[in-house]
Amino acid sequence: MTKETISGGCLCGAVVFEFDTPSLWAAHCHCTMCRRAHGAAYVTWVGVRESGFRITKGDADLVHYDSSDHLTRSFCGRCGSSILCNDHRHDSVIDITLANLHSPLDRAVSSHIYFDCRAGWVDIDDDLQKRGGDTGLEPL
Ligand SMILES: [Zn+2]
Ligand SMILES: [Zn+2]
Repeated sequence: MTKETISGGCLCGAVVFEFDTPSLWAAHCHCTMCRRAHGAAYVTWVGVRESGFRITKGDADLVHYDSSDHLTRSFCGRCGSSILCNDHRHDSVIDITLANLHSPLDRAVSSHIYFDCRAGWVDIDDDLQKRGGDTGLEPL
């Protein structure tokens, strides 16, 4: 079986990455930090294996910001697209923004996480799992 890769990148095209499928999960995150970092109601993240992830272009343009003691967010220094998140408690996994992929993901989004932190101005009425609590991942 040939391994499929999916590529993605930032708005200006300076940074391009790719990863080997299968991806691990996909979820909408409603935490306050994602909301502020991306200037959006919530951010849809895809978890992929770090061992199958590569920056294929523009590594020098990526800017890294430690948004907490265990979380590093990375964005393009030219156009500002926030595209990566690395949780150092789980270094074998890297989180990528679904919105920045160049082709469809190999799975559907399964859940809302940190759902109890969601913005008051966003109205969501779908059948996906709703998770939250201290870890953001507990069933609500
Ligand atoms: Zn860019
Ligand atoms: Zn978040």
